[in-house]
Amino acid sequence: MVSRPGLQTPRHERALFLARVPGLTSVMDASRRRSLPLAWALLALLAAAPPAWAKGPQPALASCDAKQEILVQHAFTVAERRTEAALAFLDAEPYHPHVREWFGTTPHQKIRARLARTRELLRPERRPPVLCGTAEACGNRPVFAVANLVRRTVTLCPLFFNARNEGADSRPGVIVHEMTHLAAGTGDMAYGRTNALALARKEPDRAALNADNYEYFVEFLPERRAARPGAR
Ligand SMILES: [Zn+2]
Repeated sequence: MVSRPGLQTPRHERALFLARVPGLTSVMDASRRRSLPLAWALLALLAAAPPAWAKGPQPALASCDAKQEILVQHAFTVAERRTEAALAFLDAEPYHPHVREWFGTTPHQKIRARLARTRELLRPERRPPVLCGTAEACGNRPVFAVANLVRRTVTLCPLFFNARNEGADSRPGVIVHEMTHLAAGTGDMAYGRTNALALARKEPDRAALNADNYEYFVEFLPERRAARPGAR
């Protein structure tokens, strides 16, 4: 793959698919959930059953080559570490402007609960199966990854492997994003930094259910101040 520095960041279409389930369409946001009662009943059943992969020590990496496996494992490890740091940040500074920036006036306990579930799913023994998808498998669209709620899998797309390790839309950030879909029931109501920030200001409840808000919260986590001698 050719890296493409200088090109505009592709549109984030890390959609939340109920793929290949007859009669079901993609679920993009919470407001549409009410129109799919059967789908969500099915999901509730699936969520209640202990996932088979939960017992495995490592995520299955179907269809990934050796180089991709290294990048995926590393991205998961970093995602877990950064999510852990985000939780510690939230505990230490629940009223920090960074929390307000990405989640508006949402009570920090709500954010913490969703982030904690996400962190649990990032633990090595709990990670979901990961597939490395071709452009075709990713619908020939500029997407980083696709979370399948029915199969409880994540397909990583070619764009994921072109992403960086740091900053916005990093590989670990994409993993955090997808894990919030599977672990915390988030949707994709706003994509991209600008839209996510606006959502936090205007509709904090929805921001607290939007995957990109969690991704950016973790990706742009401020450095925590070390113990400050003399500070009150
Ligand atoms: Zn998404």
